[in-house]
Amino acid sequence: MSYSNIYLVRNQKALPEALRMTDLTRFEGQAVLVKLHMGEPGNPYFISPELARLVINEVSSAGGRPFLFDTVVAYPGERSHRRGYERVARRHGFYRDNVGCNITIGERGIRILEGDIAIEVATQIYETDCMVVLSHVKGHIQAGFGGAIKNLGMGGVTKASKRRIHCMSMPIHDNDTCNYCGKCVSACPYSALSISNDWFIDRTKCEGCGKCVLACTQHALRFETMSLAEGLAISAMACTRNKEVVYLSSLHHITQNCDCEASPGPIMCPDIGYLVGTDAAAIDAAALDLIDDVAPGVCVRYTGVDPREQITHAAALGMRDTYRLSEL
Ligand code: SF4
Ligand code: SF4
Repeated sequence: MSYSNIYLVRNQKALPEALRMTDLTRFEGQAVLVKLHMGEPGNPYFISPELARLVINEVSSAGGRPFLFDTVVAYPGERSHRRGYERVARRHGFYRDNVGCNITIGERGIRILEGDIAIEVATQIYETDCMVVLSHVKGHIQAGFGGAIKNLGMGGVTKASKRRIHCMSMPIHDNDTCNYCGKCVSACPYSALSISNDWFIDRTKCEGCGKCVLACTQHALRFETMSLAEGLAISAMACTRNKEVVYLSSLHHITQNCDCEASPGPIMCPDIGYLVGTDAAAIDAAALDLIDDVAPGVCVRYTGVDPREQITHAAALGMRDTYRLSEL
């Protein structure tokens, strides 16, 4: 079994050494997208501009050309459009003179198939070969836990895919019951269905709206629903396929709620430190193990959701989740 090396540092001063262990020189000459959440108004526990600047400096010293990146959110609010998110980012200290690089907020995406699920990966992520993913570790009311997989799986895609992942569903067709009346084809607002010799669904077009299932009076269609954890794993896989990625996760202010909530809720667990590695599932597994060492079962106790489900799905998709932890 191959292990992913994960480095734990308790003090920010040791972070440059941990980052260098991941061989940042492979980013030399390349644009490097640094993915992070720049903070929901009202929630103070986002990754700090100082930490972002430290990473930017290390990537630049290794010869990379970093820029900070996040996507607009799907729910109403200031961060739901580029201009608004840029204002929030600036208020939170994310501007060129303070962090040392440009800041880009993505609104558009490229639709790709991950297995048979269509995901709109942010155009900038799709086009980059190299990424650093900065994640604030915390709980999440629907996924039990938010770390690197969540940061990419939700934060690396368009509004349409964010909505879709929160409610993943796909119609399943029963050949024996179908009378090929075509009602579902007419009902589909995305032209995802067709009937020629057989009933056909174009999964790259389906948005999971359910109108076809409602339209079918024969009950030949039903929904296959998927958990948020599985959707996040699929989406994170779509964002990272064939890319060189370094992950840095901050285990500080480990709150009950996600960074997208204006109110972060109570702190669930004392600060632990920083993790650095090159595999999303492995760094999330290490974060959860460390949290469980300090406050056993706290994520599931606070959120009621199994926080490891997303890691199990990510591993099933081929992400490495076994790790060897070294403290620097
Ligand atoms: S509406 Fe139902 S019965 Fe009619 S073609 Fe679609 S799946 Fe078949
Ligand atoms: S779920 Fe919606 S988008 Fe998908 S095939 Fe049915 S009607 Fe079309």
